[in-house]
Amino acid sequence: MGSGFTRTLYDLYVTDPARPARPPRSETREVVELRSIRQSHPELADAIDMQIELLELHRRVQGRVPLPWFELNENIVRTHNGSGERLLVRQIADVMRRHGALEDADYQRIQTIGRDMSLLDYAERWYRSGVHRHSVAAIGLPHHQISTEAHENPDEALDQVLALAMRPWMTRCAEAMQPRTELALWTRSHCALCGSEPDFAVITPAAERHLICGRCALRWKFEPLTCPYCGNSDRSRITSFATPDGQYRVYACDECHRYLKAYDARRATRPVMPVVDSVATLPLDAYAMQRGYS
Ligand SMILES: [Zn+2]
Ligand SMILES: [Zn+2]
Repeated sequence: MGSGFTRTLYDLYVTDPARPARPPRSETREVVELRSIRQSHPELADAIDMQIELLELHRRVQGRVPLPWFELNENIVRTHNGSGERLLVRQIADVMRRHGALEDADYQRIQTIGRDMSLLDYAERWYRSGVHRHSVAAIGLPHHQISTEAHENPDEALDQVLALAMRPWMTRCAEAMQPRTELALWTRSHCALCGSEPDFAVITPAAERHLICGRCALRWKFEPLTCPYCGNSDRSRITSFATPDGQYRVYACDECHRYLKAYDARRATRPVMPVVDSVATLPLDAYAMQRGYS
């Protein structure tokens, strides 16, 4: 790992709290979509308002995301100066607590972690937990030593905050990898870039199902009726249902009892937007959970 890398991450996260805020730019398409969902679904207002604030935090750092770096591994979180990252972690925790998405005790703990250097250790552990036991050997990436210790002592609240803090950088890498033709050869159920699980999917106009990584938002084609979590491909053991408007579909596995939501882009007027669509489908989560899936 060269020093260029650490400089890269440093640049991304350096935010100067003393600098006056920039005037607001025009709203992104995602924010426009979220506001329109808020109109038709006032019951989602809390989740939507939180997401809009998180998108704004991301947008502030996204302007500084430099050239993509393909050497993605746990070292991405090692930086000689993590002050900017620590600030972002604390800001995200603030937003989440204000919207009731973080318990007080978790908030206090994360603020403390966000102030000291142990954050880097936690961030590394978070990254390794996403890599799972998969090897991220795809597409010319070097093989990395995968540790399983990351599965011990999960800390969901902190992991959620770290995932949001790393997202601008992770998605920038995924955007750079997305057009590579080798990606079409990837047939596994975990992400070719970061090794994480998919947490959303899109049905393309050609009726293919593409999985979307929960951490970096990379998309890749996967068999339409195989459970990406356990590999079950027995159609009679996959329960699939659509929303009345046909916009979303749920694939629920009767083997491992997990489910995956998908955006059906076949008749849609806009492309899939994972951040927007995961909020818009919160009622589907409730429905799937009531039916015993998780
Ligand atoms: Zn990924
Ligand atoms: Zn399954």
